[in-house]
Amino acid sequence: MGIYLSKSKYCKAIQCNKLLWLSQNKPEEATETSSASVLENGIMVGELARGIFGEYTNIEFDEDVSKMLDATNEQMKQAPNIITEASFSYNNSFCSVDILKNEPDGVEIYEVKSTANIKPINLDDVSYQVYVLKQLGYNVKSANLVHLNTKYIRKGKLELDKLFTIEDVTEIANDKQKEVENKIAEINKYMEQKEVPGDVIGKQCFMHDYDCPYWKYCSKNLPDKNVFDIAIMRKEQKEELYKQGKISFEDLRNESLQEKYHQQIEVDFTDEVIMDKERIQEFLKQIEYPIYFLDFEGYEKPIPEFDDSWAYEQIPFQYSIHYIENKEAEVKHLEFLAESGIDPRRILAESLIRDIPENASIVVYHSSYETTRIKELAEIFPDLREKLLNMNKHIVDIKKPFQSRWYYCKAMEGSYSIKYVLPALYPNEPELDYHNLPVVHNGIEASDTFLKLSNYTKEEQEKIRKGMLMYCGLDTYALVKVWEKLKEVVGDKK
Ligand code: SF4
Repeated sequence: MGIYLSKSKYCKAIQCNKLLWLSQNKPEEATETSSASVLENGIMVGELARGIFGEYTNIEFDEDVSKMLDATNEQMKQAPNIITEASFSYNNSFCSVDILKNEPDGVEIYEVKSTANIKPINLDDVSYQVYVLKQLGYNVKSANLVHLNTKYIRKGKLELDKLFTIEDVTEIANDKQKEVENKIAEINKYMEQKEVPGDVIGKQCFMHDYDCPYWKYCSKNLPDKNVFDIAIMRKEQKEELYKQGKISFEDLRNESLQEKYHQQIEVDFTDEVIMDKERIQEFLKQIEYPIYFLDFEGYEKPIPEFDDSWAYEQIPFQYSIHYIENKEAEVKHLEFLAESGIDPRRILAESLIRDIPENASIVVYHSSYETTRIKELAEIFPDLREKLLNMNKHIVDIKKPFQSRWYYCKAMEGSYSIKYVLPALYPNEPELDYHNLPVVHNGIEASDTFLKLSNYTKEEQEKIRKGMLMYCGLDTYALVKVWEKLKEVVGDKK
């Protein structure tokens, strides 16, 4: 009879048959890869989208699937109606349809995604549902994907018809029917294996924004430094080299690869420190007193909460500034952390304008984040526009010397992210170690914590807010230290 399939199991096997096999047979080997907020977002969007066509009947989840199938059967007799989570099963292939328009002459199915765009895997998902329904004899009039429209800007009450975009994918789903049938047969055969299936690692292991939960397990036999450790190389190229047996850094040493990849491999062997002092010196000339080291924290929500906001807008809620007024001055600190539950954007923008003097050098790491937030704030608040946009003209991205490999050492592991650069520049400084912070240790934790603040008592909130300030404060103190290190490299003591 084969494995009892669901939408999610089918999609796992589309990504990688071994992923499905491991999740069924070795779930204890999985590592957590997606944050709780991603799952919460999916649920929140799914529930909101149910009302997109008006009144509906929901088939409640039940461990006993037969109850869901019976409840669906009852509802299917009531056409025309709208059913959410309508559940069907054909030959061990089960699916719940997010939204189903049940009409006397057939059905329309709508699969809801909490993302802004559709991905190829979403087409497989909906094609699988069409397959199940067609095999049961339903006339599937249309198959659709529903996703968020980031161009919709909320003004007053949420307008579901504008917040969601519906894409008709009927033709693609129909064209894929034979493929679905073959894939189900392939899955059933694959799942018969009693022993762990062989090594199949490749680009599918990095298909999403995060690694597959079984990456640690599947890659355990790779050499210590291997092709998958080469930072910023396309996953397709990594897979190709891997398939050619060019796996360890030793194997790759004599390969004809781009300079940046070679550099990482060579420095790994030689432990040489690359420094282009001339270029660093030239770069540092852009940073003039007074110098303001700035870092924002932001959160995003799939459903716009405030007027003039949109799906997945990054809402800045916190910043830290370390600043030095002149050559002789000490480093000073300023910070802002919004109250939770209110729109923080206006108050943050006004505070920023108060804190940073006109025409000061503003030093950030990975400037596109800060410049985009400032540009967005300038668009929302036309009266602050001029001052905000002027800030963008004075932003200097201190990532540049590392991204350009004017300064590179082994400990950076091919990356120019601050999380690698900082410990590489200051390997033995506990005060610069994010692990030593008490509450928040990275940007994702910062936004998750801020969004959950109201769940805590006043006293707990105080403690948490202190921890959040410490985290963001370290982000800009780190920038000061990076700047100082660059100056030291070129022999500028002050
Ligand atoms: S790590 Fe790669 S090979 Fe292993 S299960 Fe995941 S996708 Fe498949």
